[in-house]
Amino acid sequence: MPELAEVELARRQWSPFHGNRIVGLETHPAARIYRDCPAPALRVLEGLSLQTSRSHGKRMLFTFAPELHLEIHLGMSGKLLVGLPDHALHKHDHLVLRTQQASLVFNDYRMFGRVMLHDRADPWADLPPQPQDSRFSLARVRKLLARYPNKPLKALLLDQNTCPGIGNWMADEICWRLGLHPGVPVSRVDPSPLRRTIRFVTFGALKHVTEKNAGASSSGFAPGSYVTQVPPKSWLFQHRWKKGGLCPKCRTPLARDTIATRTTAWCSSCQIFPST
Ligand SMILES: [Zn+2]
Repeated sequence: MPELAEVELARRQWSPFHGNRIVGLETHPAARIYRDCPAPALRVLEGLSLQTSRSHGKRMLFTFAPELHLEIHLGMSGKLLVGLPDHALHKHDHLVLRTQQASLVFNDYRMFGRVMLHDRADPWADLPPQPQDSRFSLARVRKLLARYPNKPLKALLLDQNTCPGIGNWMADEICWRLGLHPGVPVSRVDPSPLRRTIRFVTFGALKHVTEKNAGASSSGFAPGSYVTQVPPKSWLFQHRWKKGGLCPKCRTPLARDTIATRTTAWCSSCQIFPST
C-alpha cells in the first residue's frame, strides 16, 4: 500500500497540470471508489481549473475553488497517471479528468481507493500533524505514548491518527533502526529516540522515494514503473521481503511474523524486547 512518500509522488504526477481547466470528465459510476461520493457529483468539476494540490499522510487533496476540493485515497493499488488528451479508458481507469493538454487518470484495479468531494475552505483543518511537520513535537510523541501505553510499537506507528502516512515498510524500518522488537508495548519506548527515528525515516523516504523518482515516466507503483528509485541497501527496506533476507547491520536472517495485523520483518539479534 502506498505510504506517505509514494502518495506524495503520486500527487506530483498531476501537479504539472495546475492551472488547467477540466473540459471533460469520465467515470465508472459502479466502481467501488465512489462509495463515499456518487460519481455524478463529480460533474461539478467540469469547467473549473485545477488550482493546486497537497498531500497529508496517505491522502491527496486537489483544489478547484476556495471551497471545492477533490480528495483521493489510493488504497492498496490506486495510481494517478497522466495520459494524452484522447486517452482511451483502460478497464481500471475509474476517473478521468480531461484537460486540453492531458488526461488525468485515477486507476485502481483492486478498488480499495476512494474519492470524495469537500465544499468547505479547509477540510483538513483537524487532521493530526504528519511526522515531517514541526507540530510533530517531542511533547506530542510523549502524549501519544502516555495515551496508549499497552499498544505494541508497530500498532502505534501504523495508527493514522498518530503517525499519518506511515505504513508497513516505514514502521518496520523505524523499529529496526530503534533496535526494538515491533511488538514491544510503547510504555517501554523512549519518546526522544522514537521521534528522531520516525522523522529520519520520514525525511529519508521523501528523499529516496519522492524526490529521486520525481520526473520519472508515470505508469504505476510496481517496480519498473514510477517508483524506480528505492532507499539504499543500508536500509531494511531492500532486504525485508527478499527470500533469505539478512539484517543489513549484522547479517542475521530476518524474522517474519504477523504483528499488529501486518506481516512484519525484524532482526532477532538487533531488535530487543526490553522487560521494563
Ligand atoms: Zn541485525
